[in-house]
Amino acid sequence: MGKRFVIYTYGCQMNRYDTETITGLLEQEGYERCEDPAGADLVLLNTCSIREKAEQKVFSQLGRLSQLKRARPGLKIGVCGCFATREGEGISRRQPAVDLVFGTQNITKLPELLGGLAGGRVVDVAAVEPDFTELAPIRREGSLSAWVSVARGCDNFCTFCVVPYTRGPEWSKPSRLIVEEVEAAVREGFREVTLLGQNVNSYGRKSPGELTFGGLLRRLDRVEGLERIRFMTSHPKDCDADMVGAMAESPKVCEHLHLPVQSGSDAVLRRMERGYTAEEYLSKAALFREQVPGGVLTSDVIVGFPGETERDFEGTLRVLEEARFDSIFMFKYSPRPGTPAFSMPERVPEEAAAERFEEAARLQRRVTEELHRALEGHVVEVMVEGPIPESPSPCEGCPAAPPGEAAPPKRFAGRSRGSHRVQFVSEGLPPRPGDLVDVRILRGGLHALGGIWPPSALLMEESAS
Ligand code: SAM
Ligand code: SF4
Repeated sequence: MGKRFVIYTYGCQMNRYDTETITGLLEQEGYERCEDPAGADLVLLNTCSIREKAEQKVFSQLGRLSQLKRARPGLKIGVCGCFATREGEGISRRQPAVDLVFGTQNITKLPELLGGLAGGRVVDVAAVEPDFTELAPIRREGSLSAWVSVARGCDNFCTFCVVPYTRGPEWSKPSRLIVEEVEAAVREGFREVTLLGQNVNSYGRKSPGELTFGGLLRRLDRVEGLERIRFMTSHPKDCDADMVGAMAESPKVCEHLHLPVQSGSDAVLRRMERGYTAEEYLSKAALFREQVPGGVLTSDVIVGFPGETERDFEGTLRVLEEARFDSIFMFKYSPRPGTPAFSMPERVPEEAAAERFEEAARLQRRVTEELHRALEGHVVEVMVEGPIPESPSPCEGCPAAPPGEAAPPKRFAGRSRGSHRVQFVSEGLPPRPGDLVDVRILRGGLHALGGIWPPSALLMEESAS
């Protein structure tokens, strides 16, 4: 029997993409992926470092694995991802059961690193230029939507963020390879791609002769068999007319823009070194709304950044009111050693940060509910993911089963072009995963929209009654 491995993935989409590459590389080496560490020869933790909590999880998991290793000394334990890159040797010093540590920039060397384990512990977190001569093997998860990394690293050094230290400088993958990768995913049956980059819309800026990000979107829009293109994460400073124009012109590019604002205070934005003011951010948001009708805007917000006053925080509330984000990811500032913000004075007390978090979350919940309710009665295109297991309590937003009906009609879930989760009742033949169906929204909930397909079903029922 071949060797078996388990991989646990923490953190962002980029880590999930890296896990797919690691899986592809290990399969090529004859390993088989499994879920139970008790039956594995190799266990990998693909770690995250973005906030303190993410790092704490790693050592508690390593503690459990070290006990397993005591019972099975042949088990190899590896740590990779952002935390591994930051800590390097420090991880195995703190947890001696760890055999292998490798960084985000050393993934494709994995077969070689595994070979070195015969001689003892291996640590490789060196910063290296990516090898973009050919595509690395990849074993994608899921079957509808594929991650495709278009750039590696980040040059922005926002003062709160570890990413430039854990993923190194920005490198854009040649567009030729990106097109090849997207076409390969389509041949495998994927109908949607999400282009990934820490600062995805600065794509190509450092590579003379390369496409711009807008150019890349336009090029991928021509890939046959591909239905939808998404991308994340865009930086407001690089959101320009070329990019928004490409979104407007390219039918496959979904009308969703995730554009992290982080704060609504110019003073805080300056200390974060984000490179824009609140007004500039709002004018980019306005450009998107103007050019991309029905466009859905989402964002990231940090509360409690060092020195954030009540007045600064009011600026953030004002931006939430004005930008009217469909949803946001909100974070309390987490001090990251080694970043400039770590040593900034005037840390915001935990209690004040928690209160601000709650207040901003309350405001955002109201805006989200208003926006989702406004979609009631509209028809949206949904890519079907599959049926929702029947349960006695209806899903959020789903219409209740008609009175007197013993078994409720079949319910399905999928995603709209605007990235809303949509749960709907099918009144026709059950749709298949990957189908694009037009769903009439009947209820706009906080976390999902509920509706009916086909959209005319309800009208027919209404005219019959
Ligand atoms: N590259 C993206 C960008 O520029 O917005 C996202 C990077 S990060 C993986 C995702 C989000 O985590 C950031 O947008 C930010 O809101 C949040 N984040 C990063 N560092 C943080 C920190 N030290 N404390 C709290 N939130 C943080
Ligand atoms: Fe971090 Fe800023 Fe780069 Fe995003 S743009 S990854 S927040 S440094």
